Amino acid sequence: MTSSPTITLIKGDGIGPEVVDATRKIIEATGVKLNWEICEAGAEVFKKGLSTGVPQETVDSIIRNKVALKGPLETPVGFGEKSANVTLRKMFETYGNIRPIHEIPGVSTPYSGRGIDLVIVRENVEDLYAGIEHMQTPGTAQCLKLISRKGCEKIIRLAFEFARSEGRKAVQCATKANIMKLTEGLMKRTFEEVAREYPDLESGHIIIDNCAHQMVKKPEQFDVIVTTNMNGDILSDLGSALIGGLGFAPGANIGNGYAIFEAVHGSAPKYAGKDTINPTAVLLSGIMMLRHVKEFEAAAQIEQALFRTLALDKVLTRDVAGDKSAASTSQFTDAIIRNLGQAFPGYKKRDYQSLQLPPISNDPDFVKTRTRSVLGIDVFIESTLSAADLGANLERIAAGDSFTLKGISCRGVQVYPASGPQADPADLFRCRFMGHNGSDMSDARIYALLERLTPHHRWTHLEKLHVFDGVQAFSKDHGED
Ligand code: NAP
Repeated sequence: MTSSPTITLIKGDGIGPEVVDATRKIIEATGVKLNWEICEAGAEVFKKGLSTGVPQETVDSIIRNKVALKGPLETPVGFGEKSANVTLRKMFETYGNIRPIHEIPGVSTPYSGRGIDLVIVRENVEDLYAGIEHMQTPGTAQCLKLISRKGCEKIIRLAFEFARSEGRKAVQCATKANIMKLTEGLMKRTFEEVAREYPDLESGHIIIDNCAHQMVKKPEQFDVIVTTNMNGDILSDLGSALIGGLGFAPGANIGNGYAIFEAVHGSAPKYAGKDTINPTAVLLSGIMMLRHVKEFEAAAQIEQALFRTLALDKVLTRDVAGDKSAASTSQFTDAIIRNLGQAFPGYKKRDYQSLQLPPISNDPDFVKTRTRSVLGIDVFIESTLSAADLGANLERIAAGDSFTLKGISCRGVQVYPASGPQADPADLFRCRFMGHNGSDMSDARIYALLERLTPHHRWTHLEKLHVFDGVQAFSKDHGED
């Protein structure tokens, strides 16, 4: 006999306790057998002086149970710089953020009746949101966009497996690979390789800006969209707006072996304790959680009761009905409970299965190369010289050395040798030095060049120009041959 699952329940801050309690009450009313372990995180924990906002007991509970349902957590100003949400995301490395965007019966939007039913699977830990930023010069900032093959593989497999678990038909990968050929391109290439292992699902690539355009124009064409972190952040909020806003936007954060379910919205403190807030987003997150623990029948029961309440009984909370005819949070909750066990006409029951993620090697040397060499270096130099003067100066410094100055660019546009009209000058230049005859550049030769540069120029960082397995692993400037 299998024992009933235990769920770590974090009520959260602001409206959190109201929406989480409503969800728990509805889940329990189905008769489903779950154990709840109530844990703390967020504002009250910060106030007690714990700077992470997440006590060890809560961490231990999630480690033990592997599944959590969480209300929104506030980051109070003045009680520590960290966000408890970020602490949880990092601690459990929840690399996948799943956001279903589904037309909700009874919630009128400009898209009503078109059958929007898509899911955004967003990479959640890499990309620009890793937040690795530097001011390279007083006038130029840099944010590193780090994307790993392993990270791509994890999120892409999650998207395909999620599609299978919901009996969905197609997975689209949305990237900006046409411009960022190495970072976003890695996502696209990995997608195309992994897609071959899922011949039962349609797959395709779409450029991210067109994806945003298509989501507004014809959202019903999409099934599952997998994308990188920042793209996914923007697309998923766009998606929430299509189906009625934050009150209806659920989410799941998936890590290696852990799943944390939560609404997209925050703690909306101005509504805390007023019994007016819409609990649907957390309830829908609870439905995702029930499917995760294989309680498919209870999930379908709640979904149908919710749809009946909204569409047939027209019991609506303030965010949908306005102030006058709105039901309170508790009236809405009770109406859903009354509808449990009744079918919703036209309800589309999917063939849900629990999500099975294939193990991915945790070898840090995830991608192995047979050959590698360094063809040259890009040295980033802070300078107020004109491109022509800087170029002439660097040519002199490199003369007689084992490097040749190939060219100089400013914000990605070649400025030396000049290849078009003069770019608006900035204070940071990428100066590309190539070794002679494609030979492998040793670190000793690189140090020697830097030693010659240093007395004349302020350099901020350098990048090696690698060739891995015979393929050049660096971008060219606009205008560079
Ligand atoms: P928010 O709490 O999401 O609230 C923004 C607005 O969204 C509300 O004023 C309300 O709009 C609407 N809204 C939110 N939840 C709703 C619901 N359940 N039903 C109906 N409408 C809802 O965003 P915020 O005010 O920017 O953030 C407040 C706190 O939450 C901050 O401390 C933030 O750090 C935190 N936060 C936490 C999470 C998380 O835990 N995952 C996520 C986001 C933010 P109207 O004013 O138009 O009624």
